Amino acid sequence: MSRATPPLKTELAAWQVQWQQLDWPQLRRSLLNWYQHQGRSLPWRGETDPYKIWISEIMLQQTQVKTVIPYYQRWLEQFPTVQSLAQADQQTVLKAWEGLGYYARGRNLHKAAQQICQQHQGEFPRQLEQVLALPGIGRTTAGGILSAAFNQPLAILDGNVKRVLARLTALPVPPKQVIKMLWAVSEALLDPQQPHDFNQAIMDLGATVCLPKQPTCLLCPWQQACYAYADHRQNQLPMRTPSAPLPVKKIGVAVIRNAAGQILIDRRLEEGLLGGLWEFPGGKIEPGETVEACIEREIREELDIAIAIDEHLITIDHAYTHFKVNLQVYLCTYGSGEPKPLESQEIRWVDLDQIDEFPFPKANQQIIQALRDRAAANR
Ligand code: SF4
Repeated sequence: MSRATPPLKTELAAWQVQWQQLDWPQLRRSLLNWYQHQGRSLPWRGETDPYKIWISEIMLQQTQVKTVIPYYQRWLEQFPTVQSLAQADQQTVLKAWEGLGYYARGRNLHKAAQQICQQHQGEFPRQLEQVLALPGIGRTTAGGILSAAFNQPLAILDGNVKRVLARLTALPVPPKQVIKMLWAVSEALLDPQQPHDFNQAIMDLGATVCLPKQPTCLLCPWQQACYAYADHRQNQLPMRTPSAPLPVKKIGVAVIRNAAGQILIDRRLEEGLLGGLWEFPGGKIEPGETVEACIEREIREELDIAIAIDEHLITIDHAYTHFKVNLQVYLCTYGSGEPKPLESQEIRWVDLDQIDEFPFPKANQQIIQALRDRAAANR
């Protein structure tokens, strides 16, 4: 059996010597000069309100800028202050987050807003430890917020920055193997006089020049210093850890209709993936089980009711970070029994016209659209 080669200590030691020889003051100057002329114009750029900066930082985790901008603007109209967010109910918050994915971010924003109101009199804290104690805020997000809002000299290490630093220094192993060391590089490089601009600049460099594929090195202010560019290895770095293909979970899903034409939906438990969101009931198809048998079993176990399965509605493939799902969605008719939320927070019978009032995960939105298309075709 082959084993992954462990990172060579000597290679890493040589890398450390190499990056420590970089001309930090010159790198800072050239990056800040580039930023002055080429930095992006973004709605949260120049913002000093830590609440607004915090919202942008959380939305930008795992989501692209162009997707975030309209959500950011709508969010601030709906929740203009930390107090207004703290006072909203969770369903309203999740509805505003609907479509952005990684819903724990929305739930954590809500909880953190309540914490800020209870523990900090509604003022976003300025101490790093206090910021790190808020739900959903790790070291890079805290550094991003505190440097942007208060010009505090705190480094960041998001995905873009990791890539830029791995190339600038020609990191000989995948970044995730040496995160501590990369933090040291980011801290050494940070401009202590202008941390706000420096952090914004390095994020912009990663997002617009040092791109994941085909970095445009000819436009890069660090081209002269970059070890990856000097070795023509900018397209091979950062090194990647080979990852196994994502497992696929096959799920049977029921759209259960009653005699009044209403549809049964349930709200997921608070903890875990997509916690607090609404969905159509169903569950994992066991080995050797048919989709129909799975749906009947799941509905009995989850809701304690009997249903009849009518016809296939839609098949949906969706990828999450660590697995994929294949949803086999069937139209069903309610039979007997009083539905009980045995594995969910609550259940509702709703009209199709009402369904937009409830926050659903992205994959379920396709089911709703299929139901709308079907209703329109039957009119
Ligand atoms: S020279 Fe190329 S690889 Fe190096 S930091 Fe600039 S864009 Fe990235």
